[in-house]
Amino acid sequence: MTRQDTLELVPRRIRHFIDGQFVEDGAGWFDDLDPYTNQPLAEVAAGDAGVVARAVEAAHHAFASVWRPMPGKDRARYLERIADGIIRDREALAALETLDTGIPLRQTLGQIERAAENFRFFAEMATRVTGEAFPHPPHFHNYAVREPIGVAGLITPWNTPLMLATWKIAPCLASGDTAVLKPAEWSPLTAERLSRIIQDADLPSGVFNVVHGLGESAGAALVAHARVPLISFTGETTTGQEIMRNGSQHLKRFSMELGGKSPVIVFDDANWERALDAVIFGMFTLNGERCTAGSRVLVQDSIAERFEEALAQRIQAIVVGDPFDPDTELGPLIHPDHWQRVNDYVELADEEGFSVAVGGKRPKSWPQGNFFQATLLTQVEPHMRVAQEEIFGPVLTVLRFRDEDEALRAANDVRYGLAAYVWTRDMERAARVSHSVEAGMVWLNSQNVRDLRTPFGGSKWSGIGREGGMHSFDFYTEWKTVHMALGTHSIPKVGVL
Ligand code: NAD
Repeated sequence: MTRQDTLELVPRRIRHFIDGQFVEDGAGWFDDLDPYTNQPLAEVAAGDAGVVARAVEAAHHAFASVWRPMPGKDRARYLERIADGIIRDREALAALETLDTGIPLRQTLGQIERAAENFRFFAEMATRVTGEAFPHPPHFHNYAVREPIGVAGLITPWNTPLMLATWKIAPCLASGDTAVLKPAEWSPLTAERLSRIIQDADLPSGVFNVVHGLGESAGAALVAHARVPLISFTGETTTGQEIMRNGSQHLKRFSMELGGKSPVIVFDDANWERALDAVIFGMFTLNGERCTAGSRVLVQDSIAERFEEALAQRIQAIVVGDPFDPDTELGPLIHPDHWQRVNDYVELADEEGFSVAVGGKRPKSWPQGNFFQATLLTQVEPHMRVAQEEIFGPVLTVLRFRDEDEALRAANDVRYGLAAYVWTRDMERAARVSHSVEAGMVWLNSQNVRDLRTPFGGSKWSGIGREGGMHSFDFYTEWKTVHMALGTHSIPKVGVL
């Protein structure tokens, strides 16, 4: 699909989706910008506390009246229908995602297929939820069941917007909860298209709702709402902290998928050509805007020079361009404010003393839009801000280490703990390092490959809780334990004369 075809798919106005209908109440409109030109793509409805209250009311009613009582296998059918709708519209969804985020089209297609897979996976899981039994013969039979909780507030970021939203929506609906999604304000297009797919799938009204708007108004109102017991949030760590503060009054349950500064540790015995491919893939696909990006490469002294040279050569060759062009590997960043943030980090070079070995600027051939060169920073020391803070753009930092101890110290010397990648042929060392590295997920001799059954999430400042597989059900359901007497066991008598 071309840029022009895609522009024709964009509605002039992006409206909320509440109780099965598109509505446009709220605090006016804001512009959604095209990262390729920074021209407005559409006007987006700015939700406020009133709109959030309507959406929560609809979701609450649907929860109590239809969704909670529905057997899992029937819910699963709706999820399958939504997956079918995503696959039917996948070209349009991928093109809209590319238009809205600047991520190259050949990468967004894969993301959309993953979005459909999320619905299929959790449709199957909905039919497999089991309870636990604790027989205590002859007096009792105890059992525990998972129960849906109510309305979940799902708050999502602008990187891979549809894929990340479906990762929450699918388990939420499979569990029997209903949803109010607040998509990121910089990338609302695919949430709007998904609402239409869900409307076509005849999901009962109110089970899935979308309120568009800014984080500090629409997002904050969702977090503050007393009838939203669950908040699943993906975004920046500082936003997560604010959300937890604001939700504490109603003692909400939070799932927090936050930022990262994940290390890739490359030992000198590694298959370093494969490590090189994985490092470049993990850092520069999705425009470097990937939470699990291996953005800090730690490379052993003895191979560091060779590895850095190879990295430089490959990074220089990354094709920056129009995300609709099939040759493009790196598109424009999401927003001018984000471009500025990435640029500000690279400009710390003089102050901090690292070297900009490749890139570091706007490419000359792309004077407009939010284009940033694929960038390599070398001579980086662990204490520097570029080694400690999440840049969330196409900027790779390289640090060197002498031995395993030093590598582990550097790897763990950050506040984040989302992912870690280890490259070595020595499997004893691989096991040791994976045990000691502070991260929620470790990949050994591999890039980031996701198995939907595994727990996904981070430690330290990268998050609280896990989603994925049964772990998503741990978040979206509550255990209820039932103690059932089987006969006439003795009951102590108190107060009997
Ligand atoms: P962000 O925190 O700025 O925004 C995320 C969402 O929160 C948006 O929808 C925003 O409108 C909303 N929001 C902002 N303030 C709010 C408030 N006070 N109350 C309620 N909602 C509020 O994040 P971003 O810039 O959109 O996304 C990038 C960040 O997301 C990066 O830090 C990245 O690492 C992280 N991320 C993490 C994961 C993960 O799984 N750990 C995955 C993807 C992205």
